[in-house]
Amino acid sequence: MSLKYCQAPDCHTYFTKDRVKGQKGNKTNQTRRRSHLLHGEFCDTRCQDNWLSRYATRAVDHFGRLNKVKHLTEQNAWVKDYDYRSYRGEADVHYFVNRITNERRPLTEQQYNDSNYTLNER
Ligand SMILES: [Zn+2]
Repeated sequence: MSLKYCQAPDCHTYFTKDRVKGQKGNKTNQTRRRSHLLHGEFCDTRCQDNWLSRYATRAVDHFGRLNKVKHLTEQNAWVKDYDYRSYRGEADVHYFVNRITNERRPLTEQQYNDSNYTLNER
């Protein structure tokens, strides 16, 4: 299991016992490393907010700023959902549901987990 570094610029400045690392007499406060990070990048919500506070505007400018109202229509109202059944030893049932028409269409678990797979018109 590989550890990844928290990407918050100030992670090492927050004082917690688990951030203190190093040889006796030469300990420093260090950036956290984790096998699982929030959004794959941050050790906790404070660090997530630290990054967002510093970089959110640049990130939005980079990936595209919304400059007009978006409208929910039948063509873009598909969201993924599932019925949780694994608690009783059955497979969970994954599906798309249209938030306007309430139509349901079945999904495989693989399609459910594929963040690029959508029925929505873009
Ligand atoms: Zn952190």
